[in-house]
Amino acid sequence: MVWWRRAVNWIRIPCSHAHRLLSERMDRPIEGGERWRLWLHLRICEMCSRFERQIDLMRSAVRRLGQ
Ligand SMILES: [Zn+2]
Repeated sequence: MVWWRRAVNWIRIPCSHAHRLLSERMDRPIEGGERWRLWLHLRICEMCSRFERQIDLMRSAVRRLGQ
C-alpha cells in the first residue's frame, strides 16, 4: 500500500513550512493544496495553531491601527 503513504507525505508539512504559509497569508491568499495542507496541519499541530492565533491577534491589531 504505497498510495496512502504518498498521500500522507503530501499532506504533511513541516512546522517551518506552516509558519511561512501563515506569514504569507497576511499578504496574499493561499490557494488550493497549500491552503488545505495548512488547514490540516493546524488541526493536528498545537504549536502552529497557537502561532496562528497570535498572527490573527496581530493582524486585527494592525487593522485597528490602520483605521
Ligand atoms: Zn506545526
